[in-house]
Amino acid sequence: MVTITVGGQVLMLMPEKCVFMPESDTLLVADAHIGKAVSFPQFGVPVPAGTTDGTLSVLTSLVRRLGARRVIFLGDVLHSVRALAPGTLAAVTRWRELHSALELTLVRSNDDDDDRAGDPPSVLDIQAFDEPLMHRGLGLCHHPRPMLGAFVLAGHLHPCVSVGGRAHDWQRLPCFWFSDHVGVLPAFGAFTGMQAIRAQRGERVFASTADRVFELQPTPRRH
Ligand code: MN
Repeated sequence: MVTITVGGQVLMLMPEKCVFMPESDTLLVADAHIGKAVSFPQFGVPVPAGTTDGTLSVLTSLVRRLGARRVIFLGDVLHSVRALAPGTLAAVTRWRELHSALELTLVRSNDDDDDRAGDPPSVLDIQAFDEPLMHRGLGLCHHPRPMLGAFVLAGHLHPCVSVGGRAHDWQRLPCFWFSDHVGVLPAFGAFTGMQAIRAQRGERVFASTADRVFELQPTPRRH
């Protein structure tokens, strides 16, 4: 875990690929994509239930360990609202019931042209807001676009970097990507895909492995 301060706020960058704000007991989670079906060749069919349980159990352990009172999802919390599998909705509803005291908030993705559009089912008790949602002076968004007068935290890109030393060691790792005005979180959900970023001079990149977060030193790009 790495702690940084942006926009006057302390942010804990967690290896679970999310941000905790200790001053407001708030967990920021981008691109959970709960219910995204993953095709495992050995089963031959997409399997949404396994990834949903995995995502929810990571969320549970974070909330317990950090004492989070609120989770703010920076868009794409459910992979698809219109095509939500019954098993997925049941699993998330059950999880919601077990954490009824937790405040759940969603910053809408506003991708009206795909099937992710629409607010989560009301049974999940997730309050949805258009971006930017202001929280302690930060502009919380799905899309990483700078805004006037506030530091923006967002998702959407599913950023990753190639990390390694020797030619055969290169590994793609999800990352946090901070410019002077915008911070992009890695995708929280497993198997959601990633895209490589190209950090500019002066930007900070923090890679995430299963158990730690570390800042990358700016080095000449090898490939
Ligand atoms: Mn996404």
